[in-house]
Amino acid sequence: MTLNPLANPKGVKLCCELCSKPAFIFCTKCRVTYYCDAEHQAIDWIGIHEKICQLLIPLRMPVPFISGSEKERQYQKQQQNLRQKQMIELTQTAGQKLLFEGKYEYAIPAAMQSLKFSIAVYGLDSIHLVPSYLILGEACIGLGRLKQAEDYLSQAQWTVLKTPECENDIKSRLYRNLGMMYATQGNDDEALRYLAEDIYHASLAFGPDDIRTSGGYFHMANVFYRKDKLDVAFSLYSQLTTMWYDHLLMLVKQRIRVPPPPTGIGPAQGTQQDEDFDFLDEAEGAEAVQILNAILEVREKQSSSTPSVLLKVYFTLAMLYLVLQDKTLAKKFSEKATEMASKGVSMEAGQSRVMMEVQKAIKSS
Ligand SMILES: [Zn+2]
Ligand SMILES: [Zn+2]
Repeated sequence: MTLNPLANPKGVKLCCELCSKPAFIFCTKCRVTYYCDAEHQAIDWIGIHEKICQLLIPLRMPVPFISGSEKERQYQKQQQNLRQKQMIELTQTAGQKLLFEGKYEYAIPAAMQSLKFSIAVYGLDSIHLVPSYLILGEACIGLGRLKQAEDYLSQAQWTVLKTPECENDIKSRLYRNLGMMYATQGNDDEALRYLAEDIYHASLAFGPDDIRTSGGYFHMANVFYRKDKLDVAFSLYSQLTTMWYDHLLMLVKQRIRVPPPPTGIGPAQGTQQDEDFDFLDEAEGAEAVQILNAILEVREKQSSSTPSVLLKVYFTLAMLYLVLQDKTLAKKFSEKATEMASKGVSMEAGQSRVMMEVQKAIKSS
């Protein structure tokens, strides 16, 4: 956090990373990122800069004069392109994660970075810009800046409309955001219409029971819950619980797979196999935490007795935190589930055996 007014010998105008106003300070760790004031530097640092500070150096240093061949120049260009694409991936995942955590203000700098790199790689009109617009739109919805959200979303919608080959996953995310915006405005009919479109396109892209389809169901359930249409809401919450239960069960089973018995003397075998399982990426993990804790809150408030439903939610959360390697929370929810089971609450077929395995895994983790 250096407060030196920036000397500007070459007449290059240095702009704040966040707001593009004239910059007066710079990041002393990378020396290639500038800010108008310390507040914008702090927001950018928490939102994304901490993750990309050092990665920006090779991307922003002036390219040295290369006397090499055309082939070398091509190689340099390819490397630059590769780094930029990695930055898009990294900044989008970070932005998406912050949205699921409700940290909307910090999602904006992450999305701005992904937009800048997407423009650099794909140009101004590309469908590849849409994910960044959607993160910006959703952040603005979260912050109550609905006018600004509308601008980002119509930009995204326009780009999707004029791209006939647009993939279903992008369409699904666009319609989800439009649904969320209308829900925030209290226009429930429009919200439900767009969320149905989201579920349709996500089902085409990933399958109807995939966790990437669950977000649409979640927002739809919330609209019905708010409208006091509890039957529909609870049936959707049950469906959501099952989607995550099945996915997490698959992940947990990979982790508690019983190792094969030793077959003789020799070097230990199977260590490579142990690493061979799927993960939730940062954004998926944050989404699961958001959805399952929201369902837990609704279910715990529910007056009518549905103990087996609640037990399944506790157990799903235990599996989630086991996968996320949060032992304390995994233990807490596993104990809640076990306590209910010991009181004779009925369970689905095979659930009690898996629950014992999960408890063992939590103890040994
Ligand atoms: Zn600024
Ligand atoms: Zn830096």
